[in-house]
Amino acid sequence: MKSEEPFDRFYFWGDMLLRDFDEVDKYMVNAQLMFKDLSKLKELDETFDFLTEEQKEFLKGFWVSFEEKPAGSKEEFLKVWRKLPKVYAAFVKSLKKEKLGYEGMIHKEVAEKVMAKGILGKNEKGDQYIFAGFNALTKAEENIISYFVGEGANCYWDIDAYYMDDKWQEAGQFFRQYKNHPVLSRTFEEAPANFKSAEKEIKLTGVPQRIGQAKLVGQALSENLPPADQVEKTVIVLPDESMLLPILHSLPPELSDVNVTMGYPLRNTPLYNLLDLLIDMQLQRKGNYFSHRQVTAILAHAYILALEKEEAQKIRYSIITANRIYIEQEELQREGTLLQDLFQLVPPEEASVYLLQIVKTLGASFNDSQSFDREYAFHFHRHLSRLHEVLHDTGKHPDWRGFQKLFRQVVISQKIPFTGEPLKGLQVMGVLETRNLDFENVFVLSLNEGMLPSAARQGSYIPHSIRRAYQLPTHDHQDAMYAYLFYRLQQRAKKISLYYNTEPDIIGNGEMSRFVQQLVYESGLPIAHHVLHNAVQINAIEPVTVEKSAETMELLRKYIKDGSDPEQKRELSPSALNDFIECKLRFYFKHLARLREADEVEEDLDARVFGNLLHDVVFWFYQELAKEGDGLIEKAAFKDWEHRIDRLIDKAFIALYRLPLDKKVTYEGQRIVVRTIVKEFMARIIQHDRAHAPFTIEALEEKFTVPVAVGQLEVMLGGKIDRVDSKSGTIRIIDYKTGKDELGVESIASLFDREGKRNKAAFQTMLYAYLYYKDRKVEARLTPGLMNRKNLFESTYTFGHSLGRGKDKRTIDDARQYFDDFEFLLNETLADLYNSESPFDQTTNLKTCNWCSYKEICRR
Ligand code: SF4
Repeated sequence: MKSEEPFDRFYFWGDMLLRDFDEVDKYMVNAQLMFKDLSKLKELDETFDFLTEEQKEFLKGFWVSFEEKPAGSKEEFLKVWRKLPKVYAAFVKSLKKEKLGYEGMIHKEVAEKVMAKGILGKNEKGDQYIFAGFNALTKAEENIISYFVGEGANCYWDIDAYYMDDKWQEAGQFFRQYKNHPVLSRTFEEAPANFKSAEKEIKLTGVPQRIGQAKLVGQALSENLPPADQVEKTVIVLPDESMLLPILHSLPPELSDVNVTMGYPLRNTPLYNLLDLLIDMQLQRKGNYFSHRQVTAILAHAYILALEKEEAQKIRYSIITANRIYIEQEELQREGTLLQDLFQLVPPEEASVYLLQIVKTLGASFNDSQSFDREYAFHFHRHLSRLHEVLHDTGKHPDWRGFQKLFRQVVISQKIPFTGEPLKGLQVMGVLETRNLDFENVFVLSLNEGMLPSAARQGSYIPHSIRRAYQLPTHDHQDAMYAYLFYRLQQRAKKISLYYNTEPDIIGNGEMSRFVQQLVYESGLPIAHHVLHNAVQINAIEPVTVEKSAETMELLRKYIKDGSDPEQKRELSPSALNDFIECKLRFYFKHLARLREADEVEEDLDARVFGNLLHDVVFWFYQELAKEGDGLIEKAAFKDWEHRIDRLIDKAFIALYRLPLDKKVTYEGQRIVVRTIVKEFMARIIQHDRAHAPFTIEALEEKFTVPVAVGQLEVMLGGKIDRVDSKSGTIRIIDYKTGKDELGVESIASLFDREGKRNKAAFQTMLYAYLYYKDRKVEARLTPGLMNRKNLFESTYTFGHSLGRGKDKRTIDDARQYFDDFEFLLNETLADLYNSESPFDQTTNLKTCNWCSYKEICRR
């Protein structure tokens, strides 16, 4: 069949078609007839007289909508449907030629031979054939078994009168059919009534969250540990395979023999997670550069930490602290280590070889205590080798995106078949694996809708009505099969503990399985039903306060002149003082206890990164002009500003992202936006400065430190001022602000007000002016102010803070006249900080907590 579909997209359809062919054969359906286009309904009556009227109705019901000229998706469906008979015939023919076959094809062939009596020959030894424990038979199985039964074989069904004799019980659906079968009917005797008569204790428990179920099972087993010689009579059944590890981790340590018999999805393993990250890393690669997202995740993966902890942590730390977004491949290489294999530049045609090598290396490194990990590696190696062969044979190598899709498709359907020793130790099983096994003590978890019966239905190209017409299995069939497994498991058990999740989550919807509902409402058996719930949190939220103990007072000594070890010495910055004024506890957390947020690479050019970029550019700009003009900035100095700014923006990006110095900086995506904004901001600053020129640069990004007497102590205050310039006897103290800061100040006292609205930026520039004044002992007017995003772009912008409101509003054009008040309030604040009786307590202004990093601790 010719198609434009690339291999990785076809894989999904191919897989589905193979499943359909398999089923068609197992149910011995004539594929040529079933895949016929019956949109001309006439043909249906003419060719399909072997179907019953009911079956024909199903077919008509489907094809009637195709009678008119079909369009859109119907037309697409017909196009493929008409080709399927040929595809099926060609596929089967080519397999036969190579003496190969898929399961359904082999079942069908055996059934046909058996029915034609061509397979047995004479049973000369007089062997007795016995069939036992079957339930939902395919047509091929039904034909084979009934042939042998006809020849004298015995057949035993593991059934119970409870669901067999009640026509509404889906668990007995297939047996009731076989009981009416022309041949199989003779193998049925009266069904025993174990389910209701055997002595049973059934407990049903609703548990909030999936993991809680595992904990409860662990607890129940440790309270009632089965004797060593009886432990194999206990089974834990897991309809949700992802509960395997939680269960294994919850079992009491006394249970040393545990046997796992179930399919564990490959996609739930840590190895899948690592391989998927590696594929993603190659996919997102830009030239020789990998993205920090995958690189840092790989370096933090448990397997990598187990093998290369020191190097992996070192590299990860350096990426995060330097805020690296793209990292050159060579930088990640460490010769002779696993990192060398992981961080290669791999072309897509070598994808499978690359992953196979990693799996091999990891597999060889797992020790005996990591038997699960070894098993994962073995299975991934098998599937990747197969994928490698297929891609190699077809000569078609998808790109990395195509390979990722293929890899995920292959993995998603695969399970690791853990097979344990069923006669020894505690058994942990999937639902299907319990077939034909009896246990006295049964635990079943995840009894929720969507889990048992499972909501997962595999896709099929054969529409539902056509399935029904040809008696191919539908979802009712699957539900009936699982209903039988559920009841059969309990029919001879003595102690049954059933669990379900009461809370909606991504997997289950918190609704109890309908099988359990039936058990509760129809069986009439006494069932102890408990629903556990988390106690509602009604405790009042306790305030968080840190008293000034001797240790805390010691921490505060780092700000005192000559007060502490020189290594620890610090100045109290305006932002630390801002923290203290707004919330004493925040000051303690951030500056004394030094609780930091987890470091992450800031990929989005957030406000902080943008602010840093602008500060760098404006600093370098005036540094160059000041150097050229010997401190004096004339109007003419700005003439070539645009080129200069472009160059400096490049320089800032190179520094921020550690880009190679010899290459042109490329701007794409968000970087273009940031460059444009920085340039506009600079253009505006320059416009105002040109109008203000000539002026003299007094200081750029210079740190000023001043001791302030607080009682007997001298507290060191310090801060770096963005720019100080002077003109005609006025000195401007300038701070650039890219945030939401405003110019207006209500009063000097408001700058120290803990509860009301205060202007943090103005507090900062006033403190800078104070520090500058104290340090330089200047006799000039001091005007602190902002070049801030909010006002700079307004036509009415003038430099400086406004003070007061309404008629009294004026500009702080000489901060010196306010320094007495400012100094008094500053002293009070510092005295409070060093008062051992005054604890670090929480702010009462909840607005302050909105953006605080310690909200979790304070529960605000
Ligand atoms: S959450 Fe509020 S009370 Fe707690 S430290 Fe932050 S600002 Fe202070």
